[in-house]
This record gives sequence, structure tokens and C-alpha cells, in this order.
Amino acid sequence: MIKVAKFGGSSVADANQFKKVRDIVKSDTERRFVVVSAAGKRASGDNKITDLLLLVNAHIQYGVDCTSLLATIEERFLEIAKELDLKFPVADEFARLVDSLDGATPEYVVSRGEWFTGQLMAEYLGMPFVDAADVIVFHHDGSVDMERTQTRLREAVVHNGGSFLLPGFYGSTVDGQVKLFTRGGGDISGAILARCIDAGLYENWTDVSGFLAADPRIIENPRAIHRITFEEMRELSYMGASVLQEEAIFPVREVNIPIQIKNTNAPDDFGTIIRETASEHAVEHLITGIAGKKDFVGIYMQKAHMSNEVGCVRRALSILERYGVSVEHIPTGVDTFSIVVNGEDVKDSIYSIVADIQNELNPDSINVLPGLSLISVVGRNMSKRVGTSGQIFGALGEAGINIRMITQSSQEISIIVGVQNEDFEKAIKVIYDNFGHSKVTRDH
Ligand code: ASP
Repeated sequence: MIKVAKFGGSSVADANQFKKVRDIVKSDTERRFVVVSAAGKRASGDNKITDLLLLVNAHIQYGVDCTSLLATIEERFLEIAKELDLKFPVADEFARLVDSLDGATPEYVVSRGEWFTGQLMAEYLGMPFVDAADVIVFHHDGSVDMERTQTRLREAVVHNGGSFLLPGFYGSTVDGQVKLFTRGGGDISGAILARCIDAGLYENWTDVSGFLAADPRIIENPRAIHRITFEEMRELSYMGASVLQEEAIFPVREVNIPIQIKNTNAPDDFGTIIRETASEHAVEHLITGIAGKKDFVGIYMQKAHMSNEVGCVRRALSILERYGVSVEHIPTGVDTFSIVVNGEDVKDSIYSIVADIQNELNPDSINVLPGLSLISVVGRNMSKRVGTSGQIFGALGEAGINIRMITQSSQEISIIVGVQNEDFEKAIKVIYDNFGHSKVTRDH
């Protein structure tokens, strides 16, 4: 099996981290392709090279001298090269970069973080360096030209004897202009490479051991999630439990290549495997994970015989659309319905929205409930056990927590409960304590 191993910024932050990466890569001959981010923070309070390069651009834009900033960046690379005894001419290459700054595009400047880090790591691993600008091709609209990219990456595989290092985060347009992915986009580069060369596994090495079943700031020592489906991951990430760049999932998901999140600082930890169907064992956890977010706003509308009136919900939604507000949930009753939106999105417009609803829908009552938290209980196995949602609501009730809203996702992989912000942490604790370790037997 071919594995693509992508290492994030903290995994390549200094010489010591480089050593860990080498041990990891050398310990498995299937890890034949390596993707790196730019050197990240060595400790909290430190700076990522990418951020420093963005700052260089800002200096250039405003005509402020950035000599010392450039020296700080160069120093990071010099230090790695020196400690690891690497031959790559950092000083010469850096001088060339500084000389070219005048005519360089901001994206080119930022991409140099990955380029330098990649050059150093390639030498350290004894792997050929393949410049992303030569193989990752963007359309002018910013999307990736997958066909060209695949052809070029496959050629690179052949030219380099079936193994190479690729710097992440950038590529270029057909006419050679360097283009960047969104921040954190090294994950996307790794996923594209894995897909284009038909890898069997895309390893994403970072500084956490994958997904946890709950937020460790709320639950002490939550269990790790070993296996998760793409769908479950989307639900949890959306609710804030984010480990991986969302966009990174699509290139590999479409062709069913699993992703394994691994921890560079604890390589023996299993991490999390994300794939289309994640079940492997006969007995599995009932709940895969719990995540939640605070500060939603519920707009509750009530109107007698609303159920007979066609178009009410549509009209309310089109008002929100006018204000550019995206809708999270729409729980409905017979003569009531509510709309849950992100508090931040309506902080300046909620009064105008309510006034418009009043005018255009003429409901009997309309109430706004701010400070709503949403908690998503996610689990592909929940649908297999009758009564799960009832038990969850029961446990919350017994703990004296008032449930303000309930919805279930259509594939039954998540149950979403709305509670007041004050009850947020407590509700998560109650759900985790009661169900976090429950198991179910899957039928085959
Ligand atoms: N270095 C880039 C960033 O900091 C991309 C990445 O780390 O994946 O956003």
C-alpha cells in the first residue's frame, strides 16, 4: 500500500520535530510520499512562518522596512539546517528571495514558507523535492485543475522513482503564477496527492491524537475516537470539534481513501481513521462523539391555523435570505415553527428581521430567544438502538436541564439538543457521563 504522510506546521517547527518526522517516515516503507506545511509554532507564543511572511507582505504594502522581520524568518531555517547539518544553501536562497521581493506577488512570498521547509525536509529525509508550483495546477477561478494536476503528479512519481516530498499549501496557475490554498491548506495538498496517485491511506500528522469523543476542556480525559465516518466528522467539525481542514476531505472522500489523523509527538497513539463506512467491530460505541456551540438565537413564531397556510416557512426564510443570514435549524410544530440562526450573524439585524417577519407573516406571536446552545450527539450506531433519543432527553431532564429545542439529522446520525448557554457544559457532561462509554452490538 502507498501512504501519503502530511505533516502540519507544528510537526516541522524545529530540528527536534524534524527528527520525529524522520523517525516516523523511516519506520514504515509504505510512507513514500511526504507533504509538509511551513514551520509552525515551536511553543505557544511563538510565530508561524506563514504568519511572518504575511507580515512581510503587509510591510511591503505599506512601505515599511522589514529587514529584521526577514532576518527572523531566515534564522528559523538557518537554525534547522545547522542543527541537522544540512547542505541546502539557506542563506543564498534567502538572499535571492529578498532580492526578488520587489517584483514578487504576495502569494509567492507566503508560499516560500512551505518551499524552504520542504527543501530542508527533503534533504533530511533523502527524498527528491518536487516543487508544488510545477505539479499542483489551479484554474484561474482558484479551483484545482484536477486533470492536469493528476497528470503532472503521476509524471513526477515516475521521474522520481516512486517517492518524493511535496511542499503543501500552494501550486500555480497554468501560466505559472503561484497560488495558495486557504489557510491550513497543506491538508488539501496532501489529499490531492493521495487521490492523484491512488494512495491506500492519507496520513495527516498533527499535534493531537485525532478526534476526542468530547471537548477535553469540558470532559476530563475523554476517550479518543478511533473510527469515524466522513459524515460524522462533518457533523462534529461543524459543531466546533475541528482537527482537519474541511475542504481536505473531499478529494479523498470521493475515491474512498481513508484518512488517518496521527500525532507526531505520540506516534504510537492510534489516532482517528476517517472513512466512508467506519465500522469494523461487532461491538461499538453507541455515540461517536459530542460537540456543541454556544450563542445561537431562536426565533419562535406561532400563528393559529398556520398549518393550513401555504408558504409561511418559505416567506420567513426568504426574509433571512435577504439579510444574508444562513439558517441552522427549522424545528416545526402544527401552528408554530422556529428558526435557529447563529447569534453573530444577526447581532446587528435581529430587530429588523423580527419587524419584517411581523409585517410579512403576521404571526400571533414572535419570540426571540438569545443565548441558545446547540449540542450535537453524533453516532452512526444510534439508529440501531431504539429509545436512544428518549434516554438522552430523560437524562437531561433528570439533571434539571431545560431542553429548548430538539432535532435529528435526516440520516439519524445525530441528535441535536438546544439548551440555554448556562446549561451548556452541564448538558455535555450529563450526556457524556451517561452514554459516552455505552456500547451497542451491530448486526451483520
Ligand atoms: N502554512 C499554511 C498555514 O499556516 C498552510 C498549512 O499549514 O497547512 O496556513
